[in-house]
Amino acid sequence: MCVSCGCHEPTNTHGDGRNIILDDILAAGDAAGLTLPEVARNIQQTTDILLSSDVQAAFESAANRPAIISDVDCTLACYQEAVIAMVNAITGKSYRMVQWTSYDGPFTADERAWVKECRETDPSFFANLAPDTEAILALNAIHKAGFPVTVCSNRPPQWAEVSSQWLTDHGVSRDSDLFMGPKGKPTLLAAHGPDLPAVLLDDNPAFWMSLARPGVTIYAPRRGYTPISSMYPHVRVFDSWSEPLFWLGITDSARSFC
Ligand SMILES: [Mg+2]
Repeated sequence: MCVSCGCHEPTNTHGDGRNIILDDILAAGDAAGLTLPEVARNIQQTTDILLSSDVQAAFESAANRPAIISDVDCTLACYQEAVIAMVNAITGKSYRMVQWTSYDGPFTADERAWVKECRETDPSFFANLAPDTEAILALNAIHKAGFPVTVCSNRPPQWAEVSSQWLTDHGVSRDSDLFMGPKGKPTLLAAHGPDLPAVLLDDNPAFWMSLARPGVTIYAPRRGYTPISSMYPHVRVFDSWSEPLFWLGITDSARSFC
């Protein structure tokens, strides 16, 4: 035929030498000392192997998707804005966001201690943080694309319930969430490496040294305290949430963020 296009005309090339015809199969049989049924059977079996290889490749591709672990404060939730507003309200000062160039903020030691006390004693603080809607939409697109997503925060463990409720209230799509204080992210990432990759979405530069390594990449939203990242091979800093989507190969959703 053309035996390849489905026309069932075994000697018709349709004017295109790339179509396989009966003469090609007979010539292949001559070359290998095989009959026409033997060649046909071998073609069928080889095609089956190729198709099953594609399935295997697709399976392996899905299995090799990195696990996504997302921070909350300053990543999904507008933590800085809330803290600077409440410190200004209680002190009468006029701190501005552009002054927040170190991780702990522009505050005095007493002000930092007060913020720490609020974090540890007042559940309404975490319950009422504003969501970063662009970040949440991006994380939801990542989850929808098939990446396993765990939300994990350094928040005090006593706020696990209020934090999970916040995630649900603001539509954060995830497989699980974990609130066990500062040891949560190292615990989650301990099993990950080149054979079991993970991506940590997190603003905290301290993790660049302690957690980023082969197989564990940090995608960091740029903040006023974000260092220059070129010295850290397993850290990528982004200005738009379209960038991590693009890096993960989620191009359709990434375009909508541009
Ligand atoms: Mg954070």
